[in-house]
Amino acid sequence: MITRRHALKSAAVLAAAFASTPLHLVAQSAPPTGVHALPPLGYAYDALEPHFDAKTMEIHHTKHHQTYVTKLNEALKDYPDLQKRSLDELLRGLDTVPEKIRGAVRNHAGGHYNHSLFWKTLKKDSRPLTPDGALNRALGELFTSEEDAKEQFLKAAMSVFGSGWVWLVVDKDKSIKLVTTANQDNPLSKGQTPLLGLDLWEHAYYLKFQSKRADYVQAFLSLQNWEFIEAQYDKIRA
Ligand code: MN
Repeated sequence: MITRRHALKSAAVLAAAFASTPLHLVAQSAPPTGVHALPPLGYAYDALEPHFDAKTMEIHHTKHHQTYVTKLNEALKDYPDLQKRSLDELLRGLDTVPEKIRGAVRNHAGGHYNHSLFWKTLKKDSRPLTPDGALNRALGELFTSEEDAKEQFLKAAMSVFGSGWVWLVVDKDKSIKLVTTANQDNPLSKGQTPLLGLDLWEHAYYLKFQSKRADYVQAFLSLQNWEFIEAQYDKIRA
């Protein structure tokens, strides 16, 4: 049993410990670190101007994406086995993540993965899709033309209520599909592999486009890094 005298003594020891800790160490307590880290953007914040503005890119990367990484590390801090899993493994196997942290892992491993992919699939003045490439052929089965593809993508983006993503995915049967998810959910959790995704959270566009989501989607549709996306598709098909 903890006696009052013992409690008082503990409090005194604690107070003494704090008093002897240099203030700058208390004030500068770093955010919890972990196995996951914010990946570099891979290009300058203004590289996608005028389609995506530098300020939004910087805040999106250093604040929003960083927060998903920090909160994922926090969620995993008492689970060394889960720390060994890749984002892909975490998201494909959400049902094997303990219920206590499943929601946090779903949101923050999702947020981390989704944004990491998003940055890589964006490029200004990318070379076009290889006309006789496998991806172009597969897209030809889903869409009747480039215009049709853009129209369907826009329609899907406008159909998402609130925050979420539109994805081009490779389904379990290797066919390509256009799908949407809510929040930071990722198609991997349904056995689909994303090729590219469009972030429909207002933080992704509000500074420049305000409530005009359609204008943001149009800007996005001119920023596909086809070289990267085709390489991903070939890897998934292999
Ligand atoms: Mn975002």
